Amino acid sequence: MMLVERVGDARLPTVHGEFRVVSYRAHDGHEHLAIVEGDPTGTSVLARVHSECMTGDALGSLKCDCGDQLAHALRAIAVEGRGVVVYMRGHEGRGIGLANKIKAYELQDGGLDTVDANTVQGLPVDARQYDVAAAILGDLGVESVRLMSNNPVKATGLVEHGIVVDALVPLVVPSRPESEHYLRTKIDRLGHVAAT
Ligand SMILES: [Zn+2]
Repeated sequence: MMLVERVGDARLPTVHGEFRVVSYRAHDGHEHLAIVEGDPTGTSVLARVHSECMTGDALGSLKCDCGDQLAHALRAIAVEGRGVVVYMRGHEGRGIGLANKIKAYELQDGGLDTVDANTVQGLPVDARQYDVAAAILGDLGVESVRLMSNNPVKATGLVEHGIVVDALVPLVVPSRPESEHYLRTKIDRLGHVAAT
């Protein structure tokens, strides 16, 4: 069975630049997007696999750095003139879903960190899969990437599904007081590299 089916391919002018947007239906039941700048075929493509975060991406939440990372990645591929941002639906809250993520926020308001707030709910700390992201990159003709991420697990996930990762490019976004504890936990407990 095909992992992904390409559905639409259109021009998308944004505040970050003028891109091409390609939509996919995937076997995971979600609809995903690839935001493309220039020619994505070949090697060493600047890329990000962005996990959907409604609160960060759409609402400007300061509890996490997702919105800043998305904007940074879109600007980076626009500046480079070539690159891909894969926008992964269903990756909300590291895969636990939007409603559970907000429940985890409630528990964090009570003093738990982002890891314990998942485990006390009986939920995985990270349930994200990267087969679909790799299939989307493959469909676009991407052979290898310079991956914009602070999370080595993402790189491993892509490699497991056939995308070569030439380098991990740290995403440096401004630290805010509201997200400091969350970012520190990602470094201390989830193996993220500190972007300095
Ligand atoms: Zn977020």
